[in-house]
Amino acid sequence: MTHSSLHFNNVPLYQCSWCESTSAVLRKCSRCEKARYCDAACQKNHWTVHRQTCFADTSVKP
Ligand SMILES: [Zn+2]
Ligand SMILES: [Zn+2]
Repeated sequence: MTHSSLHFNNVPLYQCSWCESTSAVLRKCSRCEKARYCDAACQKNHWTVHRQTCFADTSVKP
């Protein structure tokens, strides 16, 4: 075996954009669907920061 790559048997884990805790089931930002959060509280807390990148991601102009 010349190449060794790491594969995890468990489901891929996502990381909360706010508290950075990992979980397989995180709620996505309904706008950009890129940011993920544990719950509405994390999303609300991160929104003051995320709102800048969130709108930027959805309004990308070539
Ligand atoms: Zn969180
Ligand atoms: Zn977003």
